[in-house]
This record gives sequence, C-alpha cells and structure tokens, in this order.
Amino acid sequence: MFRKWRERRVLASTAIPDALWNDALAALPFVTRYSRDELARLRDLVVLFLHGKSIVGAQAHEVTPLQRVIIAVQACVLVLELDLEWYDGWESVIVYPGEFLPEWEWEDEAGVVHKAEGPMAGESMLGGPVVLSWPDVEASADWQGSGMNLVIHEFAHKIDMRDGDANGCPPLPPDMSAREWKLAFDAAYDDFAARVDEEEDTAIDPYAAEHPAEFFAVVSEVFFVEPALLQAQYPKVYAQLARFYRQDPAARDA
Ligand SMILES: [Zn+2]
Repeated sequence: MFRKWRERRVLASTAIPDALWNDALAALPFVTRYSRDELARLRDLVVLFLHGKSIVGAQAHEVTPLQRVIIAVQACVLVLELDLEWYDGWESVIVYPGEFLPEWEWEDEAGVVHKAEGPMAGESMLGGPVVLSWPDVEASADWQGSGMNLVIHEFAHKIDMRDGDANGCPPLPPDMSAREWKLAFDAAYDDFAARVDEEEDTAIDPYAAEHPAEFFAVVSEVFFVEPALLQAQYPKVYAQLARFYRQDPAARDA
C-alpha cells in the first residue's frame, strides 16, 4: 500500500513534457503498436522508473533527457502488464559512449581467473546495474538494419534474474506451467542452435544460440519488436511469452 501511495505522489508531482515524450516515441517505431490508453500507462511507468533508477553516463558520456526517456520507455514496455517490482533490487543504468570492456573476472573450478571477452554492447549484472553502449541503443531503433534491441535484451535478463542467475526461465506466475515453458523453450533452443551450427542465415540474432539465457533475452526482443517473426518461427515460445508478459503484440499487426 505504501508503495502505491508513494507512486501516486511521484506521478502527481512529476511529468514528462509532451515534446520530450513525443520525441522518444518517434525514435521507437515499435511502440506505436500500443493504444492511447496503454501509452498513457507506459508514460506513468516511465516516470516511476526514472524516479526510482539513476541513469548515469560513464567515460564522459553525457546522458541527455531524451536518452533517459528512450531507455526507460523500452525498459517499461516489458513490464507494461506486469509490475515495476520486477526491477527491484538494483539502482542504476550506466551508459557508455560506445562498446565497453567489462571489468569483472571470474574464477573457475580449477582456480583459473577468466576475464570477460570484450568489448560488449550491453550487460546486466545480478543485483547490479544494467550497462548499455549508447550507439548500440541508437542502432536498435532501426530493427530492419540492426535486427536487435539492446535495451529490451538487457532488461529481459533482469526479469530472468528475478529469481537468481539468468537461466532462460524467469519466475512464472501461478497460472503458468514451468514444464510447458521448458518444453517449448528447450525444443526451440535446440532447433535454433542446430540452425546456427549449420551456418543458416537466421532472421533471429544467432547470438541467441549462445546460452538458454541469451535465447530468452533475444526472443524477448523479437517478441516486442517483430512479433510476427517469432510467432511464425517458434509459435510455442511466442505463446509462452504472450502469457508471461500478458501481451499479444502479433495480434495487433495482423
Ligand atoms: Zn545477453
């Protein structure tokens, strides 16, 4: 209850100017799929998201108000029919002026220390920030050219990490079956990985074959931006995502 009260206070005192909001939507063609009513709810979510998270530049990158809204809109599209609580437990989004070298290292069972293979366009850390390269966020606006959406990708990882390490299966609501999810995703992942192995030219980003967690993040991008493609190639995965995100974007394009 306190949370809802606090949210109402934030919404009563903070607004995104119309010009800024319209500029952000103009930069994100896939968002035009939503109705006026949905866009109004999305705008409220964006206000609350920007109130709750800090979006900061790294390496002298200056994050403009438009960049903040463009990032927040895409982050909030995923939770439009869920809840912002999916993004609880961490504080910030860090924006680099280009691809970046991750600073983390990890030690394997043999005690060998590995560094990440950089550079990276984006990263989501468990309990930590989302890191984005601004030029890659910008490139995502043109799906036909880039075939990717970096912000949706990284925030899908955040949703996946709601119950611990990213494994390709977020915590499911009580009306969904983990078994059905696994059946749909395992079959699609195996099929996709085989197609990538055979060097088939896939319309879906071949990076999805890296790991089931990457598959979930990549198919979430396709679900929101080019839903008919996902529905045609992996209808059972599309159906699971539609139930999970409580949205059916392909139906609007039909
Ligand atoms: Zn990823």
